[in-house]
Amino acid sequence: FDGLEGRIASAIFGIPAVAMRGKTVFPNVITNIDVGRTASLNAINSAHAKDKLIFVVSQKDQNVLEPKVSDLYTVGTVCRMGNLTMVKPTNNYRLSIEGMFTAKIVSSEENKDYFCFNVEKFYPEISGDELELEGLFRAAKTNFKETIDMLPNINAESMKVAMGIDNPMAFVNVASFNVPVKNEEKQKILECTDLTEKYNLLLNALAREKQIIEIEKRISQKVKSNVEKNQKEFYLREQLKAIHEELGDDVSEIERLKEQVSKKGLDDVSLEKVMQELKRMSKMAPSSPDYTVLRSYIDWILDVPFTEESVDTEKLSTCKEILEDDHFGLDKVKERIIEYLAVLKLTKSLKGPILCLVGPPGVGKTSVAKSVARALNRKLVRMSLGGVKDEAEIRGHRKTYIGAMPGRIIYGMKEAGTINPVFLLDEIDKLSQDLRGDPASALLEVLDPEQNSSFRDRYLEISYDLSKVMFITTANSIDTIPAPLLDRMEVINIAGYTEEEKVQIAKRYLIPKNLKANGLDKSNVKFTDEGIKAIIRGYTGEAGVRKLEQLVSAVIRKVATKVAGDSSYPKQTIKENNVSEYLGIEKYSKEDKIEKNQVGSATGLAWTSVGGVTLTIEVAVMKGKGNLLLTGKLGDVMKESAQTAISFIRSNAVKYNIDSSIFETSDVHVHVPEGATPKDGPSAGITIATALISAFTGKKVKRDVAMTGEITLRGNVLAIGGLKEKALAAYRLGIRTIVIPKSNLKDLEEIPSEIVKDIKFIGVENIAEVFETALEK
Ligand code: ADP
Repeated sequence: FDGLEGRIASAIFGIPAVAMRGKTVFPNVITNIDVGRTASLNAINSAHAKDKLIFVVSQKDQNVLEPKVSDLYTVGTVCRMGNLTMVKPTNNYRLSIEGMFTAKIVSSEENKDYFCFNVEKFYPEISGDELELEGLFRAAKTNFKETIDMLPNINAESMKVAMGIDNPMAFVNVASFNVPVKNEEKQKILECTDLTEKYNLLLNALAREKQIIEIEKRISQKVKSNVEKNQKEFYLREQLKAIHEELGDDVSEIERLKEQVSKKGLDDVSLEKVMQELKRMSKMAPSSPDYTVLRSYIDWILDVPFTEESVDTEKLSTCKEILEDDHFGLDKVKERIIEYLAVLKLTKSLKGPILCLVGPPGVGKTSVAKSVARALNRKLVRMSLGGVKDEAEIRGHRKTYIGAMPGRIIYGMKEAGTINPVFLLDEIDKLSQDLRGDPASALLEVLDPEQNSSFRDRYLEISYDLSKVMFITTANSIDTIPAPLLDRMEVINIAGYTEEEKVQIAKRYLIPKNLKANGLDKSNVKFTDEGIKAIIRGYTGEAGVRKLEQLVSAVIRKVATKVAGDSSYPKQTIKENNVSEYLGIEKYSKEDKIEKNQVGSATGLAWTSVGGVTLTIEVAVMKGKGNLLLTGKLGDVMKESAQTAISFIRSNAVKYNIDSSIFETSDVHVHVPEGATPKDGPSAGITIATALISAFTGKKVKRDVAMTGEITLRGNVLAIGGLKEKALAAYRLGIRTIVIPKSNLKDLEEIPSEIVKDIKFIGVENIAEVFETALEK
């Protein structure tokens, strides 16, 4: 600069000028400019002819193609020209120039061919102290380097040169020229007349630039990483697919399962859960055990119904007809079921209690439930609860267990294939309980309408709606049904059938059914009423008709075997006198039933879960020391009854003409035969007392009188339960007089009229009346 100072005057007149677009040239900078416009070329030519100095000034708006003086900034740089070369494809000229100093246009000379100005050169002043300037200089250098380093495609060589500059004035020019900021910013720096100020402007520009670069970098990195992630996943999936294909695996399986699952109609939470399992599956090798576990899990989800539903029969009359068609008698049961169905039809909900059919085996509990399903046009599933003691049998095992499976409820639902079957839970009184949890409480969740809309099976892990299922339970006795379950059920008793009813059931249902099952018809076998009765009396001893059905079927099978061997085999008639030809010798003979009148042996009636039975009570008195011996597997209540009876007799010895010393000198043995079956209950009280008094007094007991009733120490007779079953049993055995507690006389209403007609019921209040009736005079 100093050198130049001497050569160039501070004002230059008539200097040719080029208008620059998008580039600001600074002093101390050597660079190339591309020249295309004629005016610019003319200016260069003119300058070339003179002192080779040219004034380079920027256009305010770089889009203007033919600028006027007013379109130019007033401050520019006076440059020394170097070579002019032609750039090939565009045929533009490229001029190398070297910035000398800043100058300001003072006036414009008249010239049509190019710009020609009178300019005044100016140097920036150095205000402020030296230290400040040094500080700014260093800061600018560091920032400049940092900014440049962040930029790609920077000419490393020229940067090295810039960094090597130790003149603050020269550095600010070179740095400003190289910084990638807008031209307006650069122009401002160029026009600034104070060096400190110039540095401040530069530093600001650098700071902003740095920030922009950083943001830009962040954005592009984000975009890049997104793209990379997608690409990576895609790539890995493709690879996995290739691996599966290579191994011969079925890759489309997961997709297929996904599609099937999405059509199942699961709720959102469940669907997400299942989809998650499918996702896990997709990452496993199909040959791995885990895959197999998940595969069968998905199969279960697909097999269990979630939306499939059958349509209930609309007409109640149709339901009624079907119930009538399938069963004889049972009027009360049918009536109650029709009521239940009517409520179901009106409310469309099964929030009511669960039906529980209670009665001895073979009375048609299961088949009534089957009929209900048929009547409603619902599917039927049946599950026996007998012996279920593990909660997991109801609720399933977690699928992490080896060989895990859903519980029986879900199993049943799968079998049904609809969400609204009739679900028959057989033998609910035979549920048991052990260490592995209480199945009754799990069952409660199934049966309770408040809870069962979201039943959770441990295997399925998603909640399952059982609220549309119609549960029907059966039991032999309500005594052993867990109380909370019993609470939710409505008990319908089916006590058993009389002989006449059994004959009707056999004729109308059992025989036709079994004929058909064995491929025969009415022309092959005929059962007379007497024949059926002979079967009932001689071969069965049951409340229901199961054994009867087996025997009928046995007879028919025998005939079928003959018919199969000889198609002209004549029609067989089953009569009273030829039943034994088919069934062998009788199991129950008449004599068997009613023995001779005896001393110390009385007939009682008992209620058991398989219906009513007769019970013989035997008493023996022998020499001894006054001990009481009780045998026959008696329960506590029955033992106490026996003690009560003997105490009553001892305390009333005088009244009954018994020598009271006999109690000290003899032992008394009370035995109830069929010692293998446990017996309990208070209703044998009066029977024991009768057998005892007979043994002590030597009077015989009438064997065709049966009795039932509880005894007190005062000799009063208290009411008992199960009279209907007991009466049916007594009737079966041909007993025609029954002594019952007076307060049970009202129960006679429930007993079939034919029995009431044939049997004499004697209501008693105290034991004296019993003795009166039962002992021989
Ligand atoms: P439970 O379930 O009470 O042990 P089932 O329902 O298995 O008894 O009945 C045994 C057989 O007796 C079945 O074949 C059934 O159809 C028949 N049965 C029972 N009661 C009747 C009835 N009232 N009318 C017609 N058949 C009956």
